[in-house]
Amino acid sequence: MPSTIYLDNNATTPVAPEVVEAMLPFLREYYFNPSSSYEQAKVARDAIERARECVARTLGASSKSEIIFTGGATEANNAAIWGVLRANPERKHVIVTAVEHPSVLEVAKEVERHGYRATFLPVDSAGRLDPKDLIRAIERDTAIVSIMHANNETGVIFPVGDLARIVKEIDQAIVFHTDATQTVGKLHIDLSNKLKHVDILTMSGHKIHAPKGVGAMFVRRGTRFRPYIVGGHQERGRRAGTENVASIVGLGRACELLGQHILHMPRLRKLQQRLESEVKRTIPCVRINGEGAERLPNTTNFAFEYVEGEAILFALNEHGICASSGSACTSGSLDPSHVLKAMGVPFTAAHGSLRISTCPYTKESDVELLLEVLPGIISSLRRLSPYWDVEKNAPKEGTEVFVQRRYEVKN
Ligand code: PMP
Repeated sequence: MPSTIYLDNNATTPVAPEVVEAMLPFLREYYFNPSSSYEQAKVARDAIERARECVARTLGASSKSEIIFTGGATEANNAAIWGVLRANPERKHVIVTAVEHPSVLEVAKEVERHGYRATFLPVDSAGRLDPKDLIRAIERDTAIVSIMHANNETGVIFPVGDLARIVKEIDQAIVFHTDATQTVGKLHIDLSNKLKHVDILTMSGHKIHAPKGVGAMFVRRGTRFRPYIVGGHQERGRRAGTENVASIVGLGRACELLGQHILHMPRLRKLQQRLESEVKRTIPCVRINGEGAERLPNTTNFAFEYVEGEAILFALNEHGICASSGSACTSGSLDPSHVLKAMGVPFTAAHGSLRISTCPYTKESDVELLLEVLPGIISSLRRLSPYWDVEKNAPKEGTEVFVQRRYEVKN
């Protein structure tokens, strides 16, 4: 087995050694239930509060009481939408984008089955949102607008600070939620300044070098919100269940490391530029999904026409390289991702997508290895395609009509 070259950091990240160190005492010695009354349990309780402070500081929240720990971003996103709808029974409408993570998108579809209405905002071919569509979608009984900060598949960034302001100018009572799972640690987040109109922000531990199964939600003071998981007094009655102490401590420690991590972003941006320009130089018929839009410095979503993304992944893995095709949540299904479909990516390109996502631990040599092996892999896979002319190293004539076919988007 070749050594692992990990280029799939939007799927999950390695747990930082400092995070493991911080967690261990809470697995070994301080295993107490933080709600217990004896002195030993106070150690666990205090550690949770210190972690809460770290998360609040990272996000620029004005008080740590605005932070609720959850079992990850999926739970936090479910809680955001259901929590707002339940607290505002007179409002029956939600707005999301067509490219949200399934933990938002599927909830929007689910609420429709419970008598609510949902609007799914379209994006253009670069994955951008038109604010006019958002303005038009707002109705008298809109309860919540949920727009992700950056897309996990393409890295396209939405200007959520501005979008939240626009929503508030129209109706102050609409709750604005953003899923910031892919931006915490990559972009500067300041809920007291640029994101001051955002009411709820959700995030996940395992995208920032903390463990899986822990996350957090910021709920701005004064936001009408009802708990989603009930049956206990924990998290001031806003999220029931015995706290995952060690993981919460890990999340807090991971937040402390983000100040260092964010300093790597200019380096990752350079690495991204080298990766994209070299791939375009050495491989024909490649596009970058989301090109032209503002994108995260760590994410590139390639579309190689006339090849299957899954086949590229298998071939890369023989060299020890881990990457993803579309999103890890959708791979395994032959249908291209809902994000690429919503962007109207042509049929052949949508199937040949390859997502490369780096992190502060990524080395230049990791990307160089990818650049070394990728042209050979794409060219040998294209030899298998009935639409590829091997001699000319170009598509066969007459395939344009097929290539132009786009998926119809149905929400
Ligand atoms: N939102 C986004 C944008 C994500 O990328 C992910 C993880 N793929 C999630 C939500 C879900 O996070 P978790 O795995 O912590 O439930």
